[in-house]
Amino acid sequence: MPDKAKPKTKKFKAEVKQVLDIVINSLYTNKEIFVRELISNASDALEKVRHRSLTEKEIFDKDLPLEIRIETDEKAKTFSISDTGVGLTAAEAEENLGTIAHSGSREFLQKLEDGEATDADLIGQFGVGFYASFMVAKEVFVTSRSYKSEAEGIRWTSKGAGNYSITDQPGLHRGTKIVLDMQEDQEEYANSDRIKELIKQYSNFVPFPIFVDGEQVNTVQAIWTKSKSDVSEGEYKEFYKFIANAMDEPTFTFHFNADVPLEIRSILYVPDSNMEKFHFGRMEPGVHLYCRKVLIQQQAEKLLPEYLRFLRGVVDSSDLPLNISRETMQDSALVARLNRVITGRFLKFLDEQAHDDEEKYSTFFKEFGMFIKEGATSDFERRDELAKLLRFASSAIDDDKYTSLDAYIERMKEKQESIYYLSGPSRDAIEAGPYLEAFREQGIEVLYLYESIDDFVLNSLREYKEKKLVSADQADLKLPEKEETEEKEEETDTSLPENESGDLARWMKEILGDSVEEVRTSKRLVKSPALLVNPDEFFTTGMQRIMQATSNDNKQTGRYILEINPKHKILKQLNDLRISKSQEDLAKVAVESLYGNAMISAGMMIDPKVLVERNTQMLERALGSNKSE
Ligand code: ADP
Ligand code: MG
Repeated sequence: MPDKAKPKTKKFKAEVKQVLDIVINSLYTNKEIFVRELISNASDALEKVRHRSLTEKEIFDKDLPLEIRIETDEKAKTFSISDTGVGLTAAEAEENLGTIAHSGSREFLQKLEDGEATDADLIGQFGVGFYASFMVAKEVFVTSRSYKSEAEGIRWTSKGAGNYSITDQPGLHRGTKIVLDMQEDQEEYANSDRIKELIKQYSNFVPFPIFVDGEQVNTVQAIWTKSKSDVSEGEYKEFYKFIANAMDEPTFTFHFNADVPLEIRSILYVPDSNMEKFHFGRMEPGVHLYCRKVLIQQQAEKLLPEYLRFLRGVVDSSDLPLNISRETMQDSALVARLNRVITGRFLKFLDEQAHDDEEKYSTFFKEFGMFIKEGATSDFERRDELAKLLRFASSAIDDDKYTSLDAYIERMKEKQESIYYLSGPSRDAIEAGPYLEAFREQGIEVLYLYESIDDFVLNSLREYKEKKLVSADQADLKLPEKEETEEKEEETDTSLPENESGDLARWMKEILGDSVEEVRTSKRLVKSPALLVNPDEFFTTGMQRIMQATSNDNKQTGRYILEINPKHKILKQLNDLRISKSQEDLAKVAVESLYGNAMISAGMMIDPKVLVERNTQMLERALGSNKSE
């Protein structure tokens, strides 16, 4: 059938063209990773065939050994890699080598286009590893025969420009062979020693033998099945680089083996940096599930809770049925049990790390704390374990240090019953505001929350070790030593008398109308003239600030209580204005200004137009009264 054998030329999908264009023209560093990517694809294909032969009856070329063979030819300047994996049908070749299905590739493209990534190392993490071939090859030839017995062999070729061609190729054995015809300046990859060196560096843990020009180079071993004492530091690191497709070194390595209640052999790694922090999009889970060294599921989803998606590594359990399918695995009760055991042990491991080396733990928390916070608000069963792992800035410790809730409790005053916190954009901003005054006076520690999620986390935890978590801007704060200090102050009290400050408050409420819930005399203010407190225990100011920031009209969301300081000069002067009933306009502007300032201190936005107008009025007054004097 001559017609059938004629190559069909097809265009790449737009996305692929874009990726190829960038891969060919702008990735300069680490081009060598194409070797790792092609080996990893071969290994994936082999894992699949190993798994299929357990679940499916008919496998083409069933008895072929599972292995990877690389051949180099310095004269012809070629590199070729073949595997005996699942292979590709014609439809699969078009689907998998002509389009990009992977979810992360959009973000990858964006990073590349923005010039934020020039390092080819990232390529494998976004499911576009195959295209790395075009960094070094001027033409790529793929021949493949699927494990499905009814399939036909195919031959796929491309120069990486806009199109590829595909044709039938009879007479092939199962698996895939990829031949790269190297670019002029990339001959090093047609050299046997260079390739061996790269395999040692990146692919030493591939679970299938890799031969280079007939010689096996990798040591096939599942180090997670060994006991801890038999694995060296170097092997752990090397295995991390392999399993996480990474070049960095892990922050923590957790090798966990158990025999009861489940048989578990696992190694979990915390990477060096958090990709989500750099807005690379949501991470995919990174722990693979094995049963007796056979890969059951890559990046197994239900194996760990979502908030542990930053972990990389393997979990192997011989309690899993080998022939379990992906679909049934997702809801398998056994996987749920694995999840429970491993999560519990991993959180305990983190706590142990914090005890051993708090500074190192802090570094971890700076990078990955967002996941612990996510867990604390979503995993109710483990709320306490997760709360224990939280860290915060605090009034009691240095600026760049963190405290745990436990350490806070140890420092608590004798009669203190709650843990106090205050949110704000920075230490300076929080410390400049009026809220800390009462706490400072009594030496009570306040946690500083800089990120909007912090407020949400503490608000949803509500308490820790029977201590209430209380926002320091709550109305009705009851600080432990309040009575004592009040008595002391009475001797030299220069405050407005109580009835007058009550009248003043009522008068101010009339002026402010509905914008405040109430105006009342403060018991907590020392230096500042006024502050806003939040009567709503559930809907904290931090939360309201988030609402306000996202609602983009400058409307206030909740109603606040304005507390005034009867000792403050401004309030006394305002009281004089109230009694003399003179300069009513000035009095009104002054009250509104006071309220506006309190709003700013509370971190709420106020309409700049209103603010400017009010300031102008105050200026006019001030300058005008000067002139008439
Ligand atoms: P990823 O490996 O993340 O899926 P790649 O760009 O590396 O992305 O590969 C794309 C797809 O091409 C793979 O998912 C697989 O379906 C197919 N593929 C690549 N290499 C092989 C191979 N050696 N054997 C079978 N299929 C392969
Ligand atoms: Mg790949």
